[in-house]
Amino acid sequence: MKETGELQTIIEEIKLLIKYAVSKEDRDKANALLEHYRANRVALRVLKEFYSSLPEAREEPVSRIVHMERRQGIFLLGLSAGAHDYIFFATEDHAGFLGEYQDGIGDEEILGFFGYTSSESFLQLHPTLAEFTDFSETWKINKALCPVCLVAIGEHHHLGCPVEVCPWCLGQLSRCNCRFEQMQKEEITSDEDLEQFETLLEQKGRICFEEGQGPVFPAAGDGLK
Ligand SMILES: [Zn+2]
Ligand SMILES: [Zn+2]
Repeated sequence: MKETGELQTIIEEIKLLIKYAVSKEDRDKANALLEHYRANRVALRVLKEFYSSLPEAREEPVSRIVHMERRQGIFLLGLSAGAHDYIFFATEDHAGFLGEYQDGIGDEEILGFFGYTSSESFLQLHPTLAEFTDFSETWKINKALCPVCLVAIGEHHHLGCPVEVCPWCLGQLSRCNCRFEQMQKEEITSDEDLEQFETLLEQKGRICFEEGQGPVFPAAGDGLK
């Protein structure tokens, strides 16, 4: 479970990064945006990644984060800092820099994942970052997402999400014993095993996220990794 304490730690880390990365005059602006997103784990990941890596070594405060796309708990976000716009992808646990907005999206896997055929078609559809809605606005209406892995209604949970219901016993998939029975193994540890289990699960028919499914948190170290 993502504790409030963990959020606090990330916020402190970003504050420190801002102190080193942004000039004194711009620091209030940078901190104000951080404050605005203090309860948004995905935005915090992006801010931390931005201030750690500082694209082109430009020392500019982030002034805006926009929501571009969301699929299977993965977000495509735009970020404005000074006169420049950037694109990031992010989940609750990880964020990655994809490049400057004006260059579009060079990563073919990411393009395909979000349903774009090419970087050019992406830019034709969305010539500027300014047209997108603030991430804080779309985040507020995100109630229809899995509270743990952030997938939408009708999407598969991320394997290991404690909210996913087991299609064999209808219990909590991350805690029940069905995986051992189905795999006929006493332990499931390797990535290969997990992949094989995921295939079995898909053959059986995974139970997608529905509104009202809530988290039942496993104890630390329990369940699928
Ligand atoms: Zn989930
Ligand atoms: Zn089960």
